[in-house]
This record gives sequence, C-alpha cells and structure tokens, in this order.
Amino acid sequence: MTVKAYAAQAADQPLGPYAIERRAPRPDDVVIEIAFCGVCHSDLHTVRSEWGGTLYPCVPGHEIVGTVSATGSAVTRFAAGDTVGVGCIVDSCRTCSACGEGLEQFCEGGLIGTYNAPTPDAPGHTLGGYSQTIVVDQAYVLAIRHPAEQLAAVAPLLCAGITTWSPLRHWKAGPGKRVGIVGIGGLGHMGIKLARALGAHVTGFTTSPGKTQAILDLGAHEVVVSTDKAAMKAAMGSLDLIINTVSHSHDLDPFLGLLRRDGTMVMVGAPEKPHPAIGVFNLLIRRRALAGSLIGGIAETQEMLDFCAEHGVVSDIELIRMEEIEAAYARMLKGDVRYRFVIDTATL
Ligand code: NAP
Ligand code: ZN
Ligand code: ZN
Repeated sequence: MTVKAYAAQAADQPLGPYAIERRAPRPDDVVIEIAFCGVCHSDLHTVRSEWGGTLYPCVPGHEIVGTVSATGSAVTRFAAGDTVGVGCIVDSCRTCSACGEGLEQFCEGGLIGTYNAPTPDAPGHTLGGYSQTIVVDQAYVLAIRHPAEQLAAVAPLLCAGITTWSPLRHWKAGPGKRVGIVGIGGLGHMGIKLARALGAHVTGFTTSPGKTQAILDLGAHEVVVSTDKAAMKAAMGSLDLIINTVSHSHDLDPFLGLLRRDGTMVMVGAPEKPHPAIGVFNLLIRRRALAGSLIGGIAETQEMLDFCAEHGVVSDIELIRMEEIEAAYARMLKGDVRYRFVIDTATL
C-alpha cells in the first residue's frame, strides 16, 4: 500500500513530503496506523548522515504509537483497534545468544532498526515513523496501557524512555543510589523521571541555567549547571551512577570526577565527533568505570512501558505539525527542546 511520509533525499536536503510503499501484511505482521511519532536526536544525526552510511530516501522516526488496523493470519498478540507502540527495533535474527536473552539490541546476526536498516521491502532499507502507516512483525510490537489522552506523550518512551531505563536497571538505580543525569533533552528528562520513580536520589547536570527550575519540576532533587566550576567541584565524588545523554562531543573528565569509588558513567549520547581523550587517572583512583548502553530489548521495553503506565510517567512534549520538522531540528540543535517534539501524524 502507498502511504504518505516525510523523507530526506540527501544529507544536505530538508525533509519533505514523499510517498512510500508498505508491504502487504505477512502472517505475523501487524498493520499500524501511526498517531504520533517522537523526534529523537538520532533522527537528526541520521538524516544528515552525521554517523555516515545513511541510505536515501531516509524516513526517520522510532518513537511510534498508533492503532492496529489489520493483522496477519498468525497474529495472536494483537487485534484491530489495539493501541500499540514500535520503538527502535523491527526485527533481529532471533537465534543468537543476545536475542535468546531478550537483548535484541545487541543481536549478533544484525539488528534491524526501524529506519536505515536492510530489508527485502522497497526501497531496500527500513523506513520509520514519520509516516501514516507501518507494518511490523508482532514480536517487535509493544502493548500500550496508558490512557488514550496520553498517547502523544507516551511516544518518546519508545526510545528516550527505554534508552535511559535500560542502564538505570542494569546498574541498579534505586533507593540509596545517587544518580546523575547529564544533558537534559529528550533522553535526559526521561532519565530524571525514571530514576526518580525508581527511588534514586537524582541530580540533573545541564549547560542551560534557564532549565534549572524545570529540571527540579521533572523530579530532580538537585540541579548543577555543569559550566559552573565551583558547583561541579562541590559535587565531586558524590555519585554512584551517571547517565550521559549529551549529543555533542565534550570533555568527560569533569563528569568522571563526580563518581564515587566503584561508580560508573554510562554513555548513551552518540555525537558525530569523538569525545576528547579522558585522563585515565580519573578511572584508576576510585576504580571508576566508563560504560555504554544501547536502547533496550523488546521485553524490557514492555516492562518499562508497563511501569510508566502504572506510575503515571509520560514525557513532557511539544506537539508539532509534520511541516515544522526542520524548525524543530534547529531548536533541538540549540538545546531548546522541552523536552521532546512529537509529530502529530494527522498533519501529514
Ligand atoms: P536532545 O533532546 O537534543 O538532548 C541533548 C541534550 O544534550 C541537550 O538538550 C543539552 O542539554 C545537551 N547538550 C547539547 N549540546 C551540548 C553541548 N555542546 N555540550 C553540553 N551539553 C550539550 O537529544 P536526545 O534525543 O536526548 O539524544 C541525545 C543523544 O543520545 C543523541 O546523540 C542521540 O543520538 C543519542 N541516543 C542514543 C541512544 C542509545 O541507544 N544509546 C538512543 C537514543 C538517542 P542541556 O541543555 O541540559 O545541557
Ligand atoms: Zn532514538
Ligand atoms: Zn540475534
């Protein structure tokens, strides 16, 4: 079927209207009419080929919520009318040890991302959620249990939510743990909400002094403006875990200095250019660790969505029309997003 979408045709071209083909449903497929799609900084990195290797036409978007309109003959988990989500993963090998453990994001046979990944479907690479409809195997579709009026604000949980939830859980954020979240954009604001809901003591680190009160309102116990050397010095050695979401290359040493003995800083931000080399003594002296984390598996994403439905957690969003996407990207690049743009796909 032919559906409306928004695509970039080259790295230096703005996104614009573009018709795409979605496959006819196979037995295990779920056809989803997309209601809302969040705007992740990874969409911007990809359309502009900042990581290299972008395939065009590029239709980004991996924070998808919508309604099931049809199902294939073998689909048992979903029915027409269900409210569902699709995140960053639409397929994986299903046979490697990572897939076997529900860690599809680390699939050794080749993870199939929601956009820019190989597929037999036209045009040969996956096309994401800046579109009216998507067709996804039921094994990669998530159930949404939030009230219908929250749907737009649920969309960012599918990437920003799971990308912060997964390391918070893996490194056991909870009561008695002191957690820092660095960079308060789409991922960072979810990191604050989720770490707080898990019972940790939460400090937000921002380069934007004007966000201070808003970050406290999100649930942070404390806020440190990371360009304020005295405030950073006062916080040294105080944290068990840091989730670093910053989308640009920056000096990591001041943040490593915030960790206690055996503390870990987990990198989730994926800048175009490498960070400057770290001072290794910052790791040695307190047996600190520098780690990374990539989105999260399907079962873990469902666990996060259910936790958020139960605890009333959603994103703080600004709903935009599809044609406002380039202006939204420009604001995102200035750190001027509170805290996630979400596309109303009805405007396609
Ligand atoms: P975002 O909404 O643009 O937020 C990034 C935040 O980083 C900004 O709001 C800003 O926060 C801070 N920042 C930006 N430029 C900075 C600079 N030059 N120096 C210091 N701080 C700066 O982006 P996002 O959607 O949250 O994504 C963040 C990063 O994570 C992107 O690189 C994205 O590709 C990546 N990502 C990774 C995964 C994964 O699986 N690992 C998943 C999704 C996204 P303040 O104003 O508070 O300083
Ligand atoms: Zn994302
Ligand atoms: Zn696999």
